[in-house]
Amino acid sequence: MIGWPIKHSRSPLIHNYWIEQHGLDAAYRREEVAPEAFADFISRLSERGYVGANVTIPHKEKALALSRPDDRAEAVGAANTLWYDHGHLYSTNTDVEGFTANLDAAVPGWELRVAEAVVLGAGGSARAVICGLIERGINQIHVVNRTPERSEALHARFGAAIRPVHWAALPHVLARAGLLVNCTSLGMTGQPPLPIDLDPLPTHAVVADLVYAPLETPLLAAARARDLLTADGLGMLLHQAVRGFQLWFGVRPQVTPDLRAAVEADLGR
Ligand code: NDP
Repeated sequence: MIGWPIKHSRSPLIHNYWIEQHGLDAAYRREEVAPEAFADFISRLSERGYVGANVTIPHKEKALALSRPDDRAEAVGAANTLWYDHGHLYSTNTDVEGFTANLDAAVPGWELRVAEAVVLGAGGSARAVICGLIERGINQIHVVNRTPERSEALHARFGAAIRPVHWAALPHVLARAGLLVNCTSLGMTGQPPLPIDLDPLPTHAVVADLVYAPLETPLLAAARARDLLTADGLGMLLHQAVRGFQLWFGVRPQVTPDLRAAVEADLGR
């Protein structure tokens, strides 16, 4: 896992759990790499003994430019997973399938509930979520963001499916939404609360939060208080790790209750 800084990542816990479970002679390590050293580090990844890497802030855009990106990484405009194939370095963005696979696990058949979706936020994770929603056929996505220029930029990137909306209009779009996704950092420990009233949401709506610290965010608690179905941020974090592991080691790992409990225990420390 290459980042700057890198201390808080839970990815080593997840991948080393799977490495041990599958009896592999391998290790997943943190590498703190400054922005100016990233290109050189990536060019010598295999010389350092690595079969691939995850990449996080602030390197995701540079990783895209320095590799052969797949359609998802191109669509999102950022790569978080690198692997070698026949000596070439490829990249993808696993947040896309992490988001949809977690929804599939938490609310099977969720698409049937969703004609319109509301996405809060317009940063990197919002781009991955939008890419996943469009892949799954959701073509009316209202994007609500503090800085309107960023939601308008998403309209330019993803096309007519994206409808930029101001915060003031949120109750109107919630009333028609089958899915609400929080892709802002609001509600995270140490960040301001997410100012939202879920009353307008229909009873069949699903609520997903990408924030996973705390595990049960005030948004998820409010949704559960209304008996709405939910998908949490830790589930997405676990599911997004699956494809990287498979690309590096040739084994598709499982997201199990035991793995989840191990990460929950670590988050609780
Ligand atoms: P970015 O920095 O790219 O985007 C942050 C978003 O939050 C922007 O839309 C920003 O709005 C909004 N925001 C931040 N502060 C405020 C505020 N005070 N008021 C209103 N809006 C605000 O971050 P990411 O998209 O990468 O990540 C967002 C969250 O998702 C983080 O909490 C991250 O931990 C989580 N995440 C979880 C993943 C998982 O696997 N569960 C994967 C990826 C991310 P503006 O554009 O106006 O600045």
